Amino acid sequence: MNHWNDKRYHNLNFELRRQFGKKMVKLSLDGGFTCPNRDGTLSEKGCIFCSERGSGDFAGQAYSPVSKQIGDQIELLREKWPQAGYLGYLQNFTNTYGEIENLERLYREILSDPRIEGLAIATRADCLEDEVMQLLETLSRETFLWVELGIQSIHASTRTWMNRHEDLDHAMEMINRLQSRGIRVVVHLILGLPGETREAMIESVTAVGNLAPWGMKLHLLHIMSKTPLAEWYQRHPFDMMEKGTYIDLLVDCLVQLPPEITIHRLTGDAPRDRLIAPKWAVRKRLILNGVDQELRSRNLWQGKNWNGSKRVW
Ligand code: SF4
Repeated sequence: MNHWNDKRYHNLNFELRRQFGKKMVKLSLDGGFTCPNRDGTLSEKGCIFCSERGSGDFAGQAYSPVSKQIGDQIELLREKWPQAGYLGYLQNFTNTYGEIENLERLYREILSDPRIEGLAIATRADCLEDEVMQLLETLSRETFLWVELGIQSIHASTRTWMNRHEDLDHAMEMINRLQSRGIRVVVHLILGLPGETREAMIESVTAVGNLAPWGMKLHLLHIMSKTPLAEWYQRHPFDMMEKGTYIDLLVDCLVQLPPEITIHRLTGDAPRDRLIAPKWAVRKRLILNGVDQELRSRNLWQGKNWNGSKRVW
């Protein structure tokens, strides 16, 4: 049986401690981007769950230079994590959607801060032109870098409903291409999307698991105020998962996944005052403890039912 410190799944805290020998904290930075799915290039609506902050409600403010955002955030975190190292995290909107010179300038500005020891870049698979890929490959040789891509679901009807405006085959292909260049990839999936059965959700998790990305984020679907989803939910209320059902589902997902995949997230992160449903989602610690307990009591662990090939990073 695999153990990752005190957890039965390959958690990010374990992996970053293994890589850096200390606690690492991500600083959510706003690089001032927009998104082709919001600026009219593909659509003006955005993904149905996306907030006006581009799915990054805890990021710094774009009107501050990133150097100031870094300093401000470290100031806030220093007391809580006096020994920690820091990673820059371009989380909200599409952080490769821009001129290549501007992208390189921004990434290098973040990395030039001596307190920053790596960089995470969230983007869309259709915003990874060759020159961007080349830049990411170069940077990933110089620093600890990962790229985050939202897939959310592999099911066509759900992807249309969520206004994703993205070709799934192309997105899956881009995961492979990034990895073939030695770039770490973290894939986002959402659990609890309306119309998706438990089997459908596990299919999405398994399909992404088969690509053996470096990391995965499993988000619980949140209804947040001031999003298109909140309006849709008002008109089409649907039953959301109960906490116990969600924990059970997470365990079933984890056992299917290769043990090498680093699990970055098992819940969601909605500001408390913006969360409409499910209300129990604010109790993240209870969810994570529930997963630990369920894995222990059923004597399960990440990869228990995984029979595929092994990828070693
Ligand atoms: S791709 Fe990301 S930033 Fe763009 S609309 Fe969807 S969630 Fe928002």
